[in-house]
Amino acid sequence: MTNGNLLNEAPSIAIDALELSEFVTAGVDLDLLRLDQVHPQISGNKWFKLKYAVQAILLSDCHTVLSFGGAWSNHIHALAYAGFCLGIKTIGVIRGERPQQLSATLEDAVSWGMELHFVSRAAYRDKSSPSFIAQLEQQFGRFHLLPEGGSGGWVVAGCRDIVSLFDTVGYDLICCACGTGGTLAGLIAAKPDGAQLLGVSALKGGGFLYEDIRGLLQRASVSDPGGWRLALDDHEGGYAKITPELALEIARFTDQTGIELEPVYTGKAYLALLRALRRGELRAGQRILLIHTGGMQGARGMKEIMLKQLKRSEYEYNV
Ligand SMILES: *Cc1c(COP(=O)(O)O)cnc(C)c1O
Repeated sequence: MTNGNLLNEAPSIAIDALELSEFVTAGVDLDLLRLDQVHPQISGNKWFKLKYAVQAILLSDCHTVLSFGGAWSNHIHALAYAGFCLGIKTIGVIRGERPQQLSATLEDAVSWGMELHFVSRAAYRDKSSPSFIAQLEQQFGRFHLLPEGGSGGWVVAGCRDIVSLFDTVGYDLICCACGTGGTLAGLIAAKPDGAQLLGVSALKGGGFLYEDIRGLLQRASVSDPGGWRLALDDHEGGYAKITPELALEIARFTDQTGIELEPVYTGKAYLALLRALRRGELRAGQRILLIHTGGMQGARGMKEIMLKQLKRSEYEYNV
């Protein structure tokens, strides 16, 4: 991968028609938008979330950026790599105490020159307070602050570009997972006529996403076209929580398609669609596009728990 197409040229994105038995039987077309293939390191939706933010930083007179994330954060991973390639100094404020052994994600980030700053979970929760940010400025000097997940002022502009990269005609429903809701806000800003949008919250208590998404749209001077909603009950107990059912359905998905999903985001979005199908909420003839938002690197931290829950599912579901 050369620096040439790093966050500037529009990537080409494949759409795979999935042949999943339950969907086929029900006559529902399910396609997968392969944002996971956009870039090996700046994966999935993060490529689009970072694109304009990084360009703005490069045009400014301060080439340092500070952002936030957990030990397996796809955003931290993508930002560190982008900074490494483009000559931007990156500082990662990481949730929790510094562990003995860094996660693979953070090891990568360090190898790309990111400076890590670990803070307690309590301090992390308070990370947007003026006093905390003032403290960071005292320690690190001037920086651009990119909010958690990369959902800052440029996110709607970046993620609306996703929609311009594929033929939207004929889709009744377009679905993606939500963490901060920034990606969905971009999709809403470019909502194709005739398609409903569904965001699946990866977090418990994701009701706040409605307000946050409306705030992001407002900030981008986009009027809300409506036609979108959130699924708030497919989080499996909370952020990065994995149930036997989720592990099982991801394994079945990969068996049938040869495509891997990570369980924190896209796995839950898929599970939400599967449950909707089983509840009879999807009808024959409907065409659905699921967005694979990438982030497979984060799944490196989930292997053990995925195996454990898959084993448990064998007992619970008799497979
Ligand atoms: C960050 C991330 C999301 C969440 O995107 P938001 O814009 O914060 O809603 C979804 N999927 C993957 C794989 C991610 O890494």
